[in-house]
Amino acid sequence: MLMDDLNKLAMTADAARFEATGESPLCGGFIRDTRRTSGYTPSELRDRFSRRGISNHIEVNGRKIPIQNAVMPGGRRIPLLKAMLTTACERDCHYCGFRAGRDERRITFKPEGMAKTYHNIFQAGLLDGLFLSSGVFAGGPNTQNHMLDVAEILRVKLGYRGYLHLKIMPGAERDQIMRAMQLADRISINLEAPNPDRLSCLAPAKKFTDELLQPLGWIEEIRRSTPAYRGWGGRWPSSTTQFVVGPAGESDLEILSTVSKLHQTHGLGRAFFEAFTPVQGTPLENHPAENPLREHRLYQASFLLRDYQFDLEDLPFTHEGRLPISTDPKLAYARNTLAETPIEVNLADRTELLRVPGIGPRGADVILRSRQHGRIRYLSDLRKIGIMAERAAPYITLDGHRVPQQLRLF
Ligand code: SF4
Repeated sequence: MLMDDLNKLAMTADAARFEATGESPLCGGFIRDTRRTSGYTPSELRDRFSRRGISNHIEVNGRKIPIQNAVMPGGRRIPLLKAMLTTACERDCHYCGFRAGRDERRITFKPEGMAKTYHNIFQAGLLDGLFLSSGVFAGGPNTQNHMLDVAEILRVKLGYRGYLHLKIMPGAERDQIMRAMQLADRISINLEAPNPDRLSCLAPAKKFTDELLQPLGWIEEIRRSTPAYRGWGGRWPSSTTQFVVGPAGESDLEILSTVSKLHQTHGLGRAFFEAFTPVQGTPLENHPAENPLREHRLYQASFLLRDYQFDLEDLPFTHEGRLPISTDPKLAYARNTLAETPIEVNLADRTELLRVPGIGPRGADVILRSRQHGRIRYLSDLRKIGIMAERAAPYITLDGHRVPQQLRLF
């Protein structure tokens, strides 16, 4: 019996849940308190990661379709469908459940069927966005053409104005990337590994520089050289990438060096990390799963690089290039650096304030504004303007004085 397109969509939505779209299962995209993240029991951690990506279901004509509440640039959350044009793939990446030759039922859409089925659900008000990915068939450029067809049908034929995230296939051509940027709100290319050597352990058929890094470079080159009015909605889409963490033996330093460089040179909007989980019937099926907390620490460190003006050298790497697993990297930095030389809140510039645990980008701005109206003398002054004063206390001075650290009773 032929499956109808709605059934197929439900099945690909379930299969595509490992494509990251917005957050770590632990942190929701924001740096959180160390006690919170290290306080999960092993079974809680397993549970949160086994439900990775799936935060909800919608019901359409009696069929349950998994969806995700994805975090948009700017922090807004929307109900998003992650779907694959096909779950068949001619590549053989060692970690991937869709790899060629694996005994698995495959689902393939025609572009028209995918576009119309999704659009019907969107029009019913059940979804606000689509994240479209695919296995590779008859080459990356050919697959990309089919994905562009879906986007064209949605935007041009059906007049779709909702959120669209398009995955760029390995080996996609510059013109295809330009077209994707004219149709999508966000595009992404998964590097999977921080450099060619590590990628060869995970996906020997993928060419790191030619197939993955170069297309990421074209995105930024187009953004810089072509007026933004030619992009979707009059602006160019943001770009992201994703790394598989663990089985290639890479260090956190290797991953974050690449992320830092991509932020500076490729205009990367965000990096996603996926702690490796072995999939049966793949060459890495017996490789141990990566500790999910490592993924979480990488997210925290990447936000420090992107939003907190930290440099790579500021991060508390061990000699092996790993971040401490049991402590959030900002707290580890503060213990190493600020405990003996605290920051004076009334004199510090924004970069210095951002080094202090409990003070984020918004908090730093509030402190700078507040200082225009008078000096900050007490922890209670910080609390009043929304700073997590107890977290900051060991690493600051107020008016030249160390802050007495007392437990708050109320
Ligand atoms: S190209 Fe993508 S879908 Fe295909 S095996 Fe590799 S990771 Fe999986």
